[in-house]
Amino acid sequence: MSTSLIKTDVEKVVDGGFCVGCGGCAAIDSGINMRFMDSGVYQPIIEKVTNPKIDEVCPFSNKGPNEDALANPSMDKTDEDKLGTYLSLKAGYDLDESARLHSSSGGGASWILKQLFERGLINKVIHVTESDEEGKLFKYSVSKSIDEINQGAKTRYYPIELSEVIEFVKNNDANYAFVGVPCFVKAVKRLAVIDEDFSRKLKFTISIFCGHLKSAAFGESLAWQLGVSPIKIKKIDFRHKILSAPANNYGIKVTDRESEIHISPMNELLGKDWGMGAFRLKACDFCDDIVGEVADVSFGDAWLDKYRADSKGTNLIIIRNEIIEDIFQKGLQEKSFYTEEISSKEVVKSQDASFRHRRHGVKHRTKQYEKSSTWHPIKRKFSGIDNPNFLTKLNWNFRANYSQQSHEYFLKAKTKSSLDVYTNFVKTNTAKAQRIQKLISHYSRLGRLIRKLLLKQNKSR
Ligand SMILES: Cc1cc2nc3c(=O)[nH]c(=O)nc-3n(C[C@H](O)[C@H](O)[C@H](O)COP(=O)(O)OP(=O)(O)OC[C@H]3O[C@@H](n4cnc5c(N)ncnc54)[C@H](O)[C@@H]3O)c2cc1C
Ligand code: SF4
Ligand code: SF4
Repeated sequence: MSTSLIKTDVEKVVDGGFCVGCGGCAAIDSGINMRFMDSGVYQPIIEKVTNPKIDEVCPFSNKGPNEDALANPSMDKTDEDKLGTYLSLKAGYDLDESARLHSSSGGGASWILKQLFERGLINKVIHVTESDEEGKLFKYSVSKSIDEINQGAKTRYYPIELSEVIEFVKNNDANYAFVGVPCFVKAVKRLAVIDEDFSRKLKFTISIFCGHLKSAAFGESLAWQLGVSPIKIKKIDFRHKILSAPANNYGIKVTDRESEIHISPMNELLGKDWGMGAFRLKACDFCDDIVGEVADVSFGDAWLDKYRADSKGTNLIIIRNEIIEDIFQKGLQEKSFYTEEISSKEVVKSQDASFRHRRHGVKHRTKQYEKSSTWHPIKRKFSGIDNPNFLTKLNWNFRANYSQQSHEYFLKAKTKSSLDVYTNFVKTNTAKAQRIQKLISHYSRLGRLIRKLLLKQNKSR
């Protein structure tokens, strides 16, 4: 811990549980080390703060530029504060079918990395790949070839941290592209603001849209339901494409230590419900960037009616960099990557639940901290945020508690070697969530009826 009486924001972030475990602070302060905790999350262990600039890197600190200040101001389009600024919005997929099938959505993230690499615009990629370290399935690493970029494809719902790869960048001159969820992109962009050498090396940032991050327990809990206990997991593919099902009904593929493969549709497993948020980090309840507003390009899942049926997967793409825009246009002409224009309304619609949770919900949650004058990350202000009714607040509070308790129940399940401890917890809370949802539907139906009656009464006067 810091010996100073005045705490850094980073210490307040950690004390308040707002830390996402990105490792940005540890990357620039030798007094801080990232530890992989038993609960399956990264946590900075602060021996001594030696570099006060950590507050300018941490994505949850109140010092340093926020997403609006980091975003490229020269873009010509913006939309209702939801997608940030951009040049164009597209939906599309890699026309190399095997690359598309080996990706999570349309393979756009890996395709653009390979294009930047082949054109000599970058020669190294910082992204998340499989790890052979004991007890860790994935980690941030540096890819130096097309083969390694291909191997790094796919979404990893798993904790990762940056301090080791940032150390690598410090010691290795190269042109890098960085791939991360929005808060990680924010951390590296903030680092670039204060570190000229890092800024010179960081050529492109690529964000993937983000609903929330999970602890390692998420993968472990799903694998265990397939008969593979946590210590027997060798590999997990969280986004195994099931070609007979719509793109959003993907599967999980677990390889155990005997190299036996176990596959199940994700929606047949307990705790997979993204809205309920098992193993969601508390930081994610205080994050208002859904699409990675500060990156050169962002990729998401096009789970809209017109794309969902294609199980091979389609990306939503938000472009904020002219070089990248040009590469996508050439990709279309040369029949390498298919794209079509898409409206901002459709992009926003595809992430509807996240916008509700992370704009309306974040306001509600920060308000609770304001009321008790407790330190919390200061979030941006957005227009059109309604005052939620008591049932919506009840629902948000219920889900936040569920997320936090899921970590504890899974730890208990592991200690007792009994998966039931966790699955019973999920079943009980799923039933409660359904009851709350029913109440919300009744209440809004009643509201509509009352408004109709009042309107009728006013007209007849
Ligand atoms: C935690 C998480 C939550 C997400 N939530 C949403 C959501 O709510 N809505 C939505 O539309 N999309 C979401 N995505 C993004 C989506 O799952 C796809 O990753 C995205 O559409 C890119 O697909 P692709 O086929 O272009 O990527 P691919 O070509 O498969 O490449 C994916 C790239 O992302 C990198 N990567 C994978 N996992 C991580 C990670 N955890 N952190 C940083 N980099 C990583 C890989 O190394 C690879 O370079 C989420 C992704 C993650 C990791
Ligand atoms: S969010 Fe990242 S930078 Fe902030 S305290 Fe946690 S690990 Fe450090
Ligand atoms: S929801 Fe926000 S804080 Fe959480 S991992 Fe995603 S970008 Fe980071």
